[in-house]
Amino acid sequence: MKTLRIVFAGGGHAHVYSLRRTADLAAAGYDVVLINPSPHLYYSSMATGVISGRYPPEAHRLDVRSLVESGGGRFIEGKVEQVLPRERILLLEDGRTVPYDAVSFCLGSETRLANADSIPVKPVENLTKIRDAISKNSASNLLVVGGGAAGCEVAANAAPLMPHGKTTLVEAGPDILSFAPKKARHTMREHLRSVGVDVMRGAKAVSFEPGFATLEDGRKVPADIVVSATGVSPSEVFARSGLATGDDGAMWVNHYLQSISDERIFGGGDSVDFRGRALPRFGVYAIRQGPALFRNLRATLEGNPLTEFRPQKTFLYILNLGDGTGLGVYGPLVWRGRSALELKSFIDEKFMDEYRG
Ligand SMILES: Cc1cc2nc3c(=O)[nH]c(=O)nc-3n(C[C@H](O)[C@H](O)[C@H](O)COP(=O)(O)OP(=O)(O)OC[C@H]3O[C@@H](n4cnc5c(N)ncnc54)[C@H](O)[C@@H]3O)c2cc1C
Repeated sequence: MKTLRIVFAGGGHAHVYSLRRTADLAAAGYDVVLINPSPHLYYSSMATGVISGRYPPEAHRLDVRSLVESGGGRFIEGKVEQVLPRERILLLEDGRTVPYDAVSFCLGSETRLANADSIPVKPVENLTKIRDAISKNSASNLLVVGGGAAGCEVAANAAPLMPHGKTTLVEAGPDILSFAPKKARHTMREHLRSVGVDVMRGAKAVSFEPGFATLEDGRKVPADIVVSATGVSPSEVFARSGLATGDDGAMWVNHYLQSISDERIFGGGDSVDFRGRALPRFGVYAIRQGPALFRNLRATLEGNPLTEFRPQKTFLYILNLGDGTGLGVYGPLVWRGRSALELKSFIDEKFMDEYRG
């Protein structure tokens, strides 16, 4: 009998649960393949701690290649360009093809670039580039474009490392941390000011010259190093493949995390729009999707009932403020202090211990 193949396209956060259980899939008779551009996944929650020096470089790196290989699966270094659902084949960027019987996508998302020379916060391993750029010249002026969670965290962790340069954060909308309660936005603004970040709201950077950027209203801000934290766009693989996509172009999945275009295609994390709508683009959702993907990939091939994924209504988000404290947000609850950062570290270390192997 033909061995059925389960392919994980992208080694993102929603896949680590399954990759850790490759041996179970292999024991059940499946051929398991992971396709990822690098042998590593960078755990985003610890990434800004790498900028501030709280964690050594690479502390947030997971070896997804060894997760799959140690369970008897195969790793292919490469990028998926397109899926041909009728033929059940994945086309890779370099022309290779990988047939599958069931596939799950967790390709993450990409940051829209403020300008071509900027450092985007995605992929997360780019944060090491920010740290390197700062350490080469602490008198540089840093401009962070975008006041969402990632932009605020980067500014808070980078500014103290640049005592001789100016750090500016520009946010085009009326306030930073638009997803968070008023108290969290206020606390973050005050904290950023206290570490020397000039926070400019309603400020859209429209053009960039060496050393400065110009805002829509004509003002100029110093900018030797520019970080793009301007929101994320999903991979174009899905639209290119003719799969149904949701409101922001990610793959439209039903409550089983299954593409509504094809029953053998699944996905999680920033790659999917859950029932057509984007869930908050946070890793906590991706990680919670792991067990449902693991069960459903097998269930679809074995003709068994699929498991529903029920997204959490409220999620915990703790921002690392770079001074040994954290800003915790859980629904309407907001608190700041060392205990928040300790809780974040506890959750992160538990996660890393589970998957570091
Ligand atoms: C600075 C920063 C801090 C953050 N902090 C937090 C936090 O504290 N908590 C939280 O919940 N969220 C946080 N987030 C959000 C979080 O990073 C994302 O929501 C999360 O990474 C999404 O996980 P994912 O598995 O979908 O994608 P990713 O973690 O990005 O993984 C996708 C993987 O797919 C690979 N890939 C990409 N394209 C292809 C392709 N074509 N073929 C094959 N493989 C491909 C990538 O190389 C990568 O390994 C943060 C984000 C940033 C930028």
